[in-house]
Amino acid sequence: MAEDLKLLIAGEWTEGTGDDHYEITSPVTGEHIYNVPKASSADIDRAVAAAREATDEMRHWTAFERAEMCLRIYELWQDRVEDVARILSMEQGKPYQEEAIDDIAESGDYFQIAAEDVKRLSGDVIPTTERNRRMFTVHRPVGVWATITPWNFPVMIPMEYVGPGLATGNALIVKPPEFTSWALLEMAKVFEEAGVPKGAISVIPGAGDIGEALVTHPGVDAVGFTGSSATGRKIVAAMGLKRSIMEMSGNGPTIVTSDADVARAAQAAVYGAYYNAGQVCVATERVIVVDDVHEEFLEASVKAAGDVRLGDPFQATTNMGPLNNEPTAAKMDGHIADALDRGAELVMGGSRAGGYPTDLYYDFTILDRVPEESKVSQEESFGPILPILSARDDDDAVGLANRTHLGLQAAVFTNDLSKAFWYADRIRSGTVIVNDSTDTWETFQPFGGAAGTDTGWGRQTIEEFTDLQTVVFTLRDD
Ligand code: ADP
Repeated sequence: MAEDLKLLIAGEWTEGTGDDHYEITSPVTGEHIYNVPKASSADIDRAVAAAREATDEMRHWTAFERAEMCLRIYELWQDRVEDVARILSMEQGKPYQEEAIDDIAESGDYFQIAAEDVKRLSGDVIPTTERNRRMFTVHRPVGVWATITPWNFPVMIPMEYVGPGLATGNALIVKPPEFTSWALLEMAKVFEEAGVPKGAISVIPGAGDIGEALVTHPGVDAVGFTGSSATGRKIVAAMGLKRSIMEMSGNGPTIVTSDADVARAAQAAVYGAYYNAGQVCVATERVIVVDDVHEEFLEASVKAAGDVRLGDPFQATTNMGPLNNEPTAAKMDGHIADALDRGAELVMGGSRAGGYPTDLYYDFTILDRVPEESKVSQEESFGPILPILSARDDDDAVGLANRTHLGLQAAVFTNDLSKAFWYADRIRSGTVIVNDSTDTWETFQPFGGAAGTDTGWGRQTIEEFTDLQTVVFTLRDD
């Protein structure tokens, strides 16, 4: 029996006033699992108006009051992790034991971190030229945010915005894709219990048209977006002069140098390619191997790929579930066909696995001797694929890593400290990880940076949700 979900608008659980809804099927079973209403433009107006009222109220709260609210959310969050993780696996496809539980638990950490950071967010006292003048700065909330988020981490990514956003007194309207909105709507029940003002958080699932209505709404002050570069470009063109945090695609290169621990590099690269079935912006999207260790790396990768256990996400042994959706699976088909056409060699996998309830279960794939101009090398594949490219030496490897329009997180494997710094100084990427997978992050790590992506998270995030206001005092002359 499919569940009928409600939207969270202006502090109320509602069917909305639209006359349409989305019917969602599970990538795991192919079954119709829920219906979610499609909001009307009147619903969106109501969410925006309530968000304004909420941020106008929270603007006057002290940082300590907002921190307490975030800590209440963090505490209530913990009790629901296992139930919500089950929904997440069912709608998204990620393995329940291996990934979904940690994913949901970690999503709550953003409230704890924001609660700590906001208490230390101070302004400056500015020296003045006049004796009777005093000047200081205060961080004010930006206001109403439209937060447009993707389907690969449908709870965690919204919380990356909601944690620091609420802590600084903003109101956020979150728009997840309609087909991964259940776990988020379920978890959103904690906001009311934690005493979040009505309208400070609304959740309105939907497709691109709902996203567009939000980012262009005159009552919205700022946009938070995580998703593909193609959609990011459209949003930037449409939103006008709104403030924004934009986090987009990666093409995570892993470089394996001639002095690397090759077995460790292979394990980390394979993990980076199969974790969440490769549907991660910091996934290992390509491995650039210096020629001397190429054959050794290939052999070690095939061995490491033996650890990938594709299957039903609810079986404890499974560490890779189905892809989330057909366009992602079709992109994998296309990228593999393109690489083979250009002369790459298929080492393992290369197609959808048969015998599952849906066509979205994809075999872990290794391609060798991938030409640089192939789509798997130039674009984000977002699937369980390890494309191996060959570099003559370190200079050639850096060139290959940098010749892409995407740069989010890169990894280098070397046991030579000076070489590690040599690479970090040259790779154009928001993060460079030495001797671990590109799929490595901490919730408080500054993230993003190169190639048109904003740096968010980390301690700086809290400031990005604020406007700096300068207050100038003129004292009596005597
Ligand atoms: P993907 O290609 O991985 O589905 P997208 O970048 O298209 O990723 O989607 C990320 C988020 O952006 C989703 O919530 C999606 O609904 C939303 N979106 C898509 N198109 C638009 C648009 N034109 N304006 C605003 N949001 C959009």
